[in-house]
Amino acid sequence: MDSGSPTKIAVIGSGLMGSALARAFAAAGHDVAVWNRTPSKARAVGGGTLAFDNLIEAVSGRALVVVSVSNYAACAELLSSEGVARALAGKTLVQLTSGSPADARTGLEWAKAHGVDYLDAAILAYPGFVATDYATVFYAGSRAVFDRHLATLQAIARNSVYVDEKIGSAATLDCAILEAYYGSSLAFLHAAAMCKAEGLDPKIFFSHKSSFLGLVSVTADAAQGMVERNDFSGDQCSLNTHVAAIEHIVRLSKDARISARFPQELLENYKRALSEGLGLQELPAVFRTLMRD
Ligand code: NAP
Repeated sequence: MDSGSPTKIAVIGSGLMGSALARAFAAAGHDVAVWNRTPSKARAVGGGTLAFDNLIEAVSGRALVVVSVSNYAACAELLSSEGVARALAGKTLVQLTSGSPADARTGLEWAKAHGVDYLDAAILAYPGFVATDYATVFYAGSRAVFDRHLATLQAIARNSVYVDEKIGSAATLDCAILEAYYGSSLAFLHAAAMCKAEGLDPKIFFSHKSSFLGLVSVTADAAQGMVERNDFSGDQCSLNTHVAAIEHIVRLSKDARISARFPQELLENYKRALSEGLGLQELPAVFRTLMRD
């Protein structure tokens, strides 16, 4: 692991996230070069960072290069620019651009072909939370490379978590957590819309958030064990009964003339499990149906 002494870092991309990352590294005492496609944004990062108009000059002499651009296609375009691969050889590239596991695998192939050490990373935080205890970054790739840079990387998130050697593992975990986040957010926003449409102040619903969060938490714990054992039998509540409850939600939405798309989609997924003969199993049995598509 690095000793915690100042590291020469380049941060490629001065968007909302890249700027926050660069300032966090600089605030921790590191020597930070920044580069952005639109140079004025790199100059606006501030916080003691040094802006470069030329990408190769920005990474030159930097042991650690962090990338945060919109997507992997944008990153691939940058990396294929004349002279960039040569300038990165022998350095560590930390990919903090969000993507899929397949993107990460492509990134690793590129890095191996050009003699670059590569960590694929996923940050779970808004820029305003970078460097606070609310930020988590997941890393995948070589454990030795991660350990070498851990002390430096903790400037952006003390909670820097090594997931696995498999290069796609950080992106997989990020997608899994984000799906749970976006799915449950859509669910509680639809729930609030149902309340409003029925004349119940949504703030009453939100004041009971511990009820639905508690149910989700208990179900996730039960699901973990059932998925591990591949056994979804139980004596709490059958899928048949759950489906009847979802039918009430669809009916309420239609009667109140609000969008019924979300509960309808839920109903279709759960009903598919019934048609596969899982009606007497517990709710997590839907996992079996989902694995088959
Ligand atoms: P952003 O503010 O829109 O910044 C996008 C950055 O990508 C800009 O620096 C932009 O350069 C650069 N870019 C886009 N296309 C490019 C290209 N073809 N070549 C070179 N540079 C290009 O986005 P952001 O919020 O910083 O997000 C950056 C990454 O962080 C994304 O992968 C995002 O998923 C991830 N992330 C963001 C958050 C968040 O809350 N913001 C949270 C977690 C993860 P220009 O300035 O020249 O357009």
